[in-house]
Amino acid sequence: MARRQTLQRPVQYLKGVGPRRAERFARLGVTTARDLLYHVPNRYEDATTVAEIAALRPGDDATVMGTVVSKGVLPTRKGLRIFHAVIRDHSGLIECAWPGQPWLDNKVERGQLLLVTGSVHFFHGRQLRPREFTVLAEGRDESSGEGRVYPIYPATEGLSQGQIRAVVDANLDGLLEEIAEREAFDPAWRRAVGLVHLREALETLHRPEILSSVEPARRRLAYEELFYLQLLHARARHRLRARSPGLALAAPPELSGSFVREHLPFRLTSAQERAWAEICGDMESPERMYRLLQGDVGSGKTAVAAAAMLKAVENGLQAAIMAPTELLAEQHHRTLSGLMAPLGVTPRLLTGAATGARRRDLAAGIRAGEVSVVVGTHALIQEGVEFGRPGLVVIDEQHRFGVEQRRALRDAGGSADTLVMSATPIPRSLALTLYGDLDLSIIDEMPPGRREVITGIRGSDDRDAAFAFVRRQLQAGRQAYVVYPLVEKSDAIEARAATAEFEELRSRFPEYELGLVHGRLGSAEKDEMMRRFLRGETHLLVATTVIEVGIDVPNATVMVIEHAERFGLAQLHQLRGRVGRGGEQSYCVAFFSGSVPPDRLRAFARTSDGFALAREDLRLRGEGNVFGLQQHGLPVLRFADLDRDYDLLIHARERARVLVSGDPELAERSNRVFARDLAERYADQEALYGVG
Ligand code: ADP
Ligand code: MG
Repeated sequence: MARRQTLQRPVQYLKGVGPRRAERFARLGVTTARDLLYHVPNRYEDATTVAEIAALRPGDDATVMGTVVSKGVLPTRKGLRIFHAVIRDHSGLIECAWPGQPWLDNKVERGQLLLVTGSVHFFHGRQLRPREFTVLAEGRDESSGEGRVYPIYPATEGLSQGQIRAVVDANLDGLLEEIAEREAFDPAWRRAVGLVHLREALETLHRPEILSSVEPARRRLAYEELFYLQLLHARARHRLRARSPGLALAAPPELSGSFVREHLPFRLTSAQERAWAEICGDMESPERMYRLLQGDVGSGKTAVAAAAMLKAVENGLQAAIMAPTELLAEQHHRTLSGLMAPLGVTPRLLTGAATGARRRDLAAGIRAGEVSVVVGTHALIQEGVEFGRPGLVVIDEQHRFGVEQRRALRDAGGSADTLVMSATPIPRSLALTLYGDLDLSIIDEMPPGRREVITGIRGSDDRDAAFAFVRRQLQAGRQAYVVYPLVEKSDAIEARAATAEFEELRSRFPEYELGLVHGRLGSAEKDEMMRRFLRGETHLLVATTVIEVGIDVPNATVMVIEHAERFGLAQLHQLRGRVGRGGEQSYCVAFFSGSVPPDRLRAFARTSDGFALAREDLRLRGEGNVFGLQQHGLPVLRFADLDRDYDLLIHARERARVLVSGDPELAERSNRVFARDLAERYADQEALYGVG
């Protein structure tokens, strides 16, 4: 037991470290012996990854590997002292020159194997001017280095490659002995996923014999990383469901069935069908449902939610849907009233606007269980509103509500099933990583016949032409949005900036009515501005991103985005989703400042598929630093690549769920290893973990 704990000992006590180096290791995130083992190279060099010396030409920028055959310091006529070293690989020789660094003479020795990166010049023959170099091996006693693979570690100021390599070399064998006992996955499990043993994985990553052995080793660590994250999720999911039992809504589908088959004015897409079947499964099961329904703007989540609400009603229970603003609640109320009217179900609206006797009556009806469907804002979770027979709670645009509000609605719902809806498309792999505690349904298909919004990326030279186009749309009776990024943290400054732009646009469009919405306005004022736009009383709506998640104005056909380079892809996509909601062809004009549009904007213009954009976003932001993980307080993925390792993710998730459902506390003897690893890895994560 004592031996096992030693992996948590401070790195300071390892051979060759000490207090000063320990501080530097800490900068690399290495504070314990275990961290050092997991501090694996971020790349490798061998003869196959570097250029051949003989092939170098002046003008090249290259990395080569060679043994130092001679060296020395030469003064120039101008008094500059230049350190020279000639290196050799199997193909030939080249001279490297470091002007002004004569002290390198004490560092570089004959026989050392160097990895050198720099530009090739012509100076009495070819000469390499190194930008960087690393001593890969001290040489002499070692072989020429041919065929060997050299690890390159993430290093930091004051802690070089060579020093890290030396510390790893001095400690690796002992640490591998210790880690060998920590293998958590038994042989059958490893075989099922195709995982190498933990010890082998770590040994390979630090000392690969051939490059091709690195990937299986990485996969092993990736699996482990995904597994423990999913274990964290599975436990959160279990606790959520253990807190209150659910309801089994098993009545025959009198309302929901005929709604989906006969009353909807369209056929569900196959993605909607799938989501609907998953929701039915949850609602019929006695476990409480916590499901995230994800789908791009316009993918038809509302119809699916409506069917679920009717399912609650046909079981004699109540359904509530909560929207983030009054306006959105009103919109849902209109839509749902239309959809449910043929079935004799009348949704009621409860927002902050309902006061006095009207509010009291409604609250009484809700308490008595007489009101079967309620649409509302957070007024639904305020004092005095209590559901008599809660069956289903739907939360729209979940990210717009605080954790507290979501929790309050969930608690107000007693044992009601919970359906959370989100219009932010993210790849399934990322959703499973972020929201592992919720079950997930994704609508990744648009209803047929939807016209794509035509998107143009424009520089500031094109402003006049672009606004002339906007004018033609207004002349044709359409409406337009002009959106500015939130430039400042302060509402006051933002309001001033938006107001200035507003004045400029007003002088451009003197013959039209303009509206202005910004963060300084109260929600009633904002809603009023939006209502005027909705009624067509204003033609052009100038706004900061407060309309990002907004209402349907089918007559709006143009979205102009100013300083588009300041928006993230997800936001751009949401903004564009505000148009193209009616029958007319719609357009998005994204202005950028600078000479070339960033890649993000080009991707934005190329496709309007939200999931494709989300994947692109993931790619552009780079792996290992997945957006949202830190924001959610979850650990950053170091080894896993959500795209490439999707199979591992799915397997890890399944295993984690099975494990937790059989032994929630991980108390069984054979499962204690998981409890301990989880505690060591994510000491502070479980407490941090919120509920969706
Ligand atoms: P979301 O809530 O996902 O943004 P909505 O539910 O508001 O999307 O649907 C957007 C529009 O598409 C609505 O006008 C709706 O009537 C229509 N719609 C939804 N599902 C379908 C379908 N399967 N076929 C045709 N039109 C659909
Ligand atoms: Mg919606």
